[in-house]
Amino acid sequence: MVGDAEKNLLEGLDPEQRAAVQAPRGPVCVLAGAGTGKTRTITHRIAYLVHTGHVAAGQVLAVTFTNRAAGEMRTRLRALGIPGAQARTFHSAALRQLRYFWPRVVGDAPWELIEGKLRLIGQAAHKAGAPTEIEVLRDLASEIEWAKASLISPDDYPDAVRRRHRTPPIPADQVVKVYQGYEKLKNNAKLLDFDDLLLHTAAVLEEHPQVAEEFHERYRCFVVDEYQDVTPLQQRVLNGWLGQRDDLTVVGDANQTIYSFAGASSRPLLEFTRRFPEATVIRLERDYRSTPQVVGLANQVISAARDRPAGSRLKLIGQRPAGPVPQFHEYDDEPTEAAAVAKRIQDLVDAGTPLSEIAVLYRVNAQSEAYEQALTEAGIPYLVRGGERFFERQEVRQAMSALRAASMDAPEGELPELVRRLLERVGLTAEPPAGGSARERWESLLAIVELAEELTATVEGADLPKFVAELETRAAAQHPPTVEGVTLASLHASKGLEWDAVFLIGLVDGTLPIQFADGDEAAVEEERRLLYVGVTRAREHLWLSWSLSRSPGGRRHRRRCRFLYGLIPEEHPTARLARSSTNGAKGPAQKLSCRICGRSLVGTVATKLGRCTDCPSDVDEELLSKLRDWRMTRAKELKVPAYVVFTDATLMAIAEQRPTDPAGLVSISGIGAAKLNRFGGDVLALVNGTSAE
Ligand code: ATP
Ligand code: MG
Repeated sequence: MVGDAEKNLLEGLDPEQRAAVQAPRGPVCVLAGAGTGKTRTITHRIAYLVHTGHVAAGQVLAVTFTNRAAGEMRTRLRALGIPGAQARTFHSAALRQLRYFWPRVVGDAPWELIEGKLRLIGQAAHKAGAPTEIEVLRDLASEIEWAKASLISPDDYPDAVRRRHRTPPIPADQVVKVYQGYEKLKNNAKLLDFDDLLLHTAAVLEEHPQVAEEFHERYRCFVVDEYQDVTPLQQRVLNGWLGQRDDLTVVGDANQTIYSFAGASSRPLLEFTRRFPEATVIRLERDYRSTPQVVGLANQVISAARDRPAGSRLKLIGQRPAGPVPQFHEYDDEPTEAAAVAKRIQDLVDAGTPLSEIAVLYRVNAQSEAYEQALTEAGIPYLVRGGERFFERQEVRQAMSALRAASMDAPEGELPELVRRLLERVGLTAEPPAGGSARERWESLLAIVELAEELTATVEGADLPKFVAELETRAAAQHPPTVEGVTLASLHASKGLEWDAVFLIGLVDGTLPIQFADGDEAAVEEERRLLYVGVTRAREHLWLSWSLSRSPGGRRHRRRCRFLYGLIPEEHPTARLARSSTNGAKGPAQKLSCRICGRSLVGTVATKLGRCTDCPSDVDEELLSKLRDWRMTRAKELKVPAYVVFTDATLMAIAEQRPTDPAGLVSISGIGAAKLNRFGGDVLALVNGTSAE
């Protein structure tokens, strides 16, 4: 007999969702695209199993990947009358279990969670004779996290990176030493990092049958949301939880795998039936979240993806009534773009859209500054998710105190150059670091230099004290506490969430796809999936925009995100605008076809080289080797990594294009006024065959 509660539970579901909800206890896999109701299906499944007496609420453990998503699941479960089911992240579940089992397994030895691992990594790096600059330490931290999430021990590390064609931040044998040293220091101090929580939980369940038995008594039914982003380490914990049982429901969308860089893989999702051949597999195609207009664009974005595995080739079918077509907008510079977004948000609010139903999404956290500013100016409240507000970031606070301290001494010099010099002390380098948090910090510092440029351009006699005062005013204005507001979030943090109106901003090559993905097809594909995640967050209003230069009056050398080609309707004014701005005759931004094969160029490396990356190089080998030697010497003198002087791609471009004068040199993208001043003489002397000083 089906009771009222069950009937209500099944009523709001379509036949496929219902099949997943009603599937008998045992392995269930829901493979489906964005907005098809996966999260809804699993919460209903839990409620259904509990209401029909198949499992007690307390025996269910639902896991997902972010605290926000876990909170959302708990809210939905409560609304379905199941407050007793646990919905947690892998980490918080492991932490809880470890606290409980630890005294019995290890005894009373107390342990603490580590507060940021950089200090220990710094000590380990120092001991290993590895570089200890903060940027390198951050990269090492990410690398060690990746290795641990991928279940790669220090000894296996060199082999693993070779097999996966992964570029380590410093030579692999040095990473090994730092990794080993870090583990040792951490163990001696009785500290655990986040990955250890998972490692120890898995080990306890694997090695202590009694503990495992007790745990298996306690939890009987497991549910994993966003399963496409599971890491090998998380999978191992999940295996420990399950033991020999198979009561596991997973849901996911391989097209939304966006954490591969951190070791996640959609394989366990796509190969679920290999592990559980008797599994119930459900595919959902109806998109309940977005209008057909948004769904159409999402389908287009993802159908261009290369090498889509079989289980991910789903086409979404929009279920909602028609809505406005997605808008594409190109601007001259970022402040103009941000102001236009703020204006559009105001219009939406005036027309009745609640602030909490609007989101501005970006690729890197540093992009939020312009929007925090524009929204503040427009008097629109906002909240920053998955990242701190700009002026609360550690590097920004450090930069502010460095500038404040320097302004007491009334230093001389052009404001932007002065600011740049001062910020070098807190980590600003000439070229962006390869990626990760180092890149985020760098972007924040660069944003401050750009504010200095902006102030110089707009205020007569702008000097350091004026600039510091300006920064403080901005910081103060952006601090008022907000209750309800527009969400500012990174694309990564937006996974699983939805809003009526979504603004995808700053869509330029180099930001999306992010520069360090270039030349690595898998990494570029992950960036494409990020765009897909962004597009599919919108219920109704979707806006995509980019700007050709960072600051007002700057060089308009940026190109819109390559994933947008073919998506913008032909009659769209932006399509014409963008075409006409790239068809001009001269200048670096116009070199859009390969000088070897004539095909159009895709990607920043290719643009820099002026040829496709796989076209034969016409490099002057002798010059290249001289340039490399020179770079090494300069880098040593300046005590910076070599790429800060010039990246490999820039050196290659110089050795291929052999510019003989400053104009030729700056026409290579990545060489601006600062680099020309600093290194132009040396480089031109080398190219022209005279010995460089
Ligand atoms: P994502 O891949 O982005 O995590 P999802 O597949 O988990 O998406 P949900 O968040 O569960 O999708 O659902 C998307 C939206 O569609 C939600 O607002 C949900 O309430 C609604 N929805 C899902 N199924 C139905 C249905 N059968 N009828 C009406 N609305 C539905
Ligand atoms: Mg979901």
